[in-house]
Amino acid sequence: MSGREYMLGNVAIARGIVEGAVDVVSGYPGTPSSEIVDTLASMNERDFYIEWSVNEKVAMEVAAGASMAGARSVVTMKHVGLNVAADPLMTLAYMGVKGGMVIIVADDPSCHSSQNEQDTRRYSVFSQIPCLEPSTPQQAKDMIPYAFELSEKYEIPVIFRSTTRISHGKSDIKLAPVRQKTGEIKFEKNPDRWVMVPKNARVRHPHLLSIQQDIRGEFEFSGWNELSIEAENNIGVIACGTAAVYAKEALDRLGITASFLKIGTYPIPEDSVRQLLAKTEQVIVIEELEPVIEDQCKVIARDVGFETEIFGKADGILPRTGEFNVDICMEGIARAFGIDSCECKPATQAMELPVRPPAMCPGCSHRGTFHVMKKVFGEDAVFPSDIGCYTLGIQHGTVDTTLCMGASISVASGIYDAGEKKPICCTIGDSTFFHTGINSLMNAIYNKSDITVLILDNRTTAMTGHQPNPGMGKTATYEPTVEVAFDKLCSAMGAEFVEVVDPYDMDATEDVLQRAKAYEGVSVVIAKRACVISAAREGIRYTPFMVDTNLCKGCRKCLKFGCPAIEFDEVSKKASINSMCSGCGLCVEICNFDAIMEVKK
Ligand code: SF4
Ligand code: SF4
Repeated sequence: MSGREYMLGNVAIARGIVEGAVDVVSGYPGTPSSEIVDTLASMNERDFYIEWSVNEKVAMEVAAGASMAGARSVVTMKHVGLNVAADPLMTLAYMGVKGGMVIIVADDPSCHSSQNEQDTRRYSVFSQIPCLEPSTPQQAKDMIPYAFELSEKYEIPVIFRSTTRISHGKSDIKLAPVRQKTGEIKFEKNPDRWVMVPKNARVRHPHLLSIQQDIRGEFEFSGWNELSIEAENNIGVIACGTAAVYAKEALDRLGITASFLKIGTYPIPEDSVRQLLAKTEQVIVIEELEPVIEDQCKVIARDVGFETEIFGKADGILPRTGEFNVDICMEGIARAFGIDSCECKPATQAMELPVRPPAMCPGCSHRGTFHVMKKVFGEDAVFPSDIGCYTLGIQHGTVDTTLCMGASISVASGIYDAGEKKPICCTIGDSTFFHTGINSLMNAIYNKSDITVLILDNRTTAMTGHQPNPGMGKTATYEPTVEVAFDKLCSAMGAEFVEVVDPYDMDATEDVLQRAKAYEGVSVVIAKRACVISAAREGIRYTPFMVDTNLCKGCRKCLKFGCPAIEFDEVSKKASINSMCSGCGLCVEICNFDAIMEVKK
């Protein structure tokens, strides 16, 4: 298939993976990267293997194994996932690959849906693994087949850095034909290469260093870097990623011309940087997040003895946090080059928008669990939590900590080990438990913590788009597979108090949590109820609820429950339930006046 198609950036990346004749794809969901595997997994015809792995480290190792056998492989994750996969990544740099291997990492400047905004390019510098960075979704698609070739040529994995704007932007994409598969898949024994005992690692480290110059040389002539020298002007702009597109528009809007270097590869094209510095007196480096290029440009300028002034983040002209846009670039360029332009003042917000804190969906079973948990353990108890929809429990006062995926149980243990006397009840989702919670629970049991662990099993990985996990009995392509039983798994790790509850049954949940709280040691409670969104997609419909205004006393207790379907009329001083009601019925148990009931059919 060729032609054009209007598509999401991540769908374009998925298309690039197919065009590059991939053999194996693995990944762990995380916004803004998830749609890449979702798109590939939903294809009707596929001549490659695909999986959601239990975490990024495992996904990286699956892709590495495939590559060792000569297959082209891709692993996808979001930026924080690369921390989880950093262990295999660093040694894979030494070991290298056989079949082309592309590590797709989606960064999230401005933390739209992340706990930090780290810059993946730092991992490229750290590991000495080359990195490619597109400026548009079209480039993102086109870069992937090249990334496979580059990886095979230098026998090293290649990092592909996307950002939220690339992954979630939409664009008209020119498609290319799908390449023919050529390589033979066959693992060949070669312990010197594939076994990183110290003797071999000592040989591979100099090898890794030795290929850097070749890779750098290749990038000097790469079409992913574009240099244009403006002979009439002595100012220059160096930019990368989507910031390069913003910077070009900013120059247009300011009505100025400048020499321009767009960088799409790491190591950066040093000759091009030198050429630009030689022709300019002032240069601004425009890049989102870390000053990776800026630092390297300063080193190049110093080594060569150029006097060019280099502006960017170190002098505070551009921010080191958050996403960029054309206004930010205009302001930075104007400040760097002393241009007075009223156009670069961002428009002021004429009207104050109402604050809308994120909330769990109407009918979310987590709301019931949190309600009972707070009732049983008390507001003063300690509630470590984790990454997932249930982090929104912060609105209910039931999320006291969120560090990273899988950390809630270990943090709970640490708080107990420190000598905290208040009850400690931590929460973790099903996918997150598989991701990195299992080790934490094992540690808590082994080291005799006295905590309650609530596994919120909503039968999916909800927050990233409802991807399957090992607790669902379905693979990435929705084929049936084994269903890991949480209760048996927890018991096998040595937990002696393990109970399963339905969070829609608040009385039974309360009874179990009371006993879990009283239990000395690690008590595990699995709150099992499908996410209402998944349930609705499967055609499960419950009867909605209503408020009988004759019985409603206007006490507002139901409002505090935080369900978006419950409203309050300030004139009549009565509660009501809107059309968002999903029929969970949890609010019935909240009202002391029996004013909430099922809508009569
Ligand atoms: S998506 Fe599912 S799990 Fe997440 S808040 Fe909504 S109902 Fe709850
Ligand atoms: S809790 Fe019951 S009585 Fe109180 S406002 Fe809500 S519906 Fe009315």
